[in-house]
Order: sequence, then C-alpha cells, then structure tokens
Amino acid sequence: MARILVVEDEEHLAEGLVFNLEAEGHEVEVAANGLEAAERLAGPETDFDLVILDVMLPGASGFEVARRVRASGNYVPVLMLTAKDDPADIVRGIEEGADDYLTKPFKLDELMVRIRALLRRRRWDGGPDEDAAAVVQFGDVSVHFDRFEIETPEGRHELTPREAGLLRALIEREGEAVPRGELLEAVWGLKPETRTRVVDSFVVRLRRYVEKDPARPRHIVSVRGHGYRFVR
Ligand code: CA
Repeated sequence: MARILVVEDEEHLAEGLVFNLEAEGHEVEVAANGLEAAERLAGPETDFDLVILDVMLPGASGFEVARRVRASGNYVPVLMLTAKDDPADIVRGIEEGADDYLTKPFKLDELMVRIRALLRRRRWDGGPDEDAAAVVQFGDVSVHFDRFEIETPEGRHELTPREAGLLRALIEREGEAVPRGELLEAVWGLKPETRTRVVDSFVVRLRRYVEKDPARPRHIVSVRGHGYRFVR
C-alpha cells in the first residue's frame, strides 16, 4: 500500500486513476490545480510515496510543479504525464525532476507497470536481500540496489529508480570515463545527442548522497567535455 497524489484536472481521467489505484490497495488523493499540488508537496517531509503529475494543469504546469517540489528538497518519485509524444516535453519533464514519464493517451497496464517500478524502493517487506551482488560498497557508502537505498554514516537515503540506474551505469564501468550521451541513452532511453543537462543534475543529486564533500567529489568524478567516471 502506498500513498499516491494524482495531480490531474480532467475529472474523468483523475477518477479513473483513483479507481484503479485504489483497486490495487493504494490510498489516493487528487489535486486538480498545479499551485495546490506544489504547496502540498513542498518541503523534504512528504506524506506521499508517489506523485502522478499531469503537464497541462491550471495554476501551474506540471513542469513548474516538479521544479518547485525538487527545489523545496522533496524527492518523492514523480511520474509525469505528457500531453503528446514530443521529445522536447519529455526532456523538459525529466530536467525538472520527473523520474519517469508516460505520453497520453496511455494504456492502464503500462501505467501500473511504471507505478510498481517507482514504488519498489518503498517496499517494506523486511526480508533478507534477495541478491547479495545487489549491494555495492565504497568508502563509507553502501548502495543497496535491491531496495533502492544508500547507507552512509549520516544515515539512509532512498534512491529513485533513475538515480539508482545512473549510479549502477557508472559503477558497472568503474574507472572508465563514460560519455554523457551513453548515460542518457542507458538510463533515460533518450538519444545520445539530446541536448539536456539531466545527467549533470542527477550527478549533483547523487553526489549529495555519496560524497563527503559534494563540492570536491572523489567517487563520481567529472571528465571535462565528456562525462563522468566512477572511482571506488
Ligand atoms: Ca490536464
């Protein structure tokens, strides 16, 4: 069971989402206005495990909502619903902080698959790690890819699926300078030549978790004009 906020002003669509999510056992609330959604999601403490965020909204667009939510320090997983299959919209959504996106109209099955993937990190089954190799350690940091968590001396941080995907892509090629375009393709499924700063902004997020001094990174190192290199 998860607490999900549906941000959608089209009533019939919001109702359909609520019906289907509740049928899966989730607790669902709806916000029909972008400003209202941004206010409810402001700050690092959040009541929600997932946000389904439409782009076209009264008050503030979904892009604006995502930007405000991230700027307030809230990293709740966000699934963005873009109105059309426009690559610029998709890139913008990801840049503003969405973890995943679906283009309208979408199939319900597809939506449910994405939601389950985004909620995986919130699983509290309390069981042992299914796969020991899913844990990677470096310095004072343990990364639990199986439960989307990082443990450091400062505490635990939950990772979004894309954060975990980026970290995994870098760790798998330890010591190698990986080009931005390859990361963009491997983690976000975007064309390598897509003009976006999404890789860099996600590296900033990851460094806050894994680096003692994020301003002087030792594990996720910038390779000027190229990309990033992971150093254990
Ligand atoms: Ca809408």
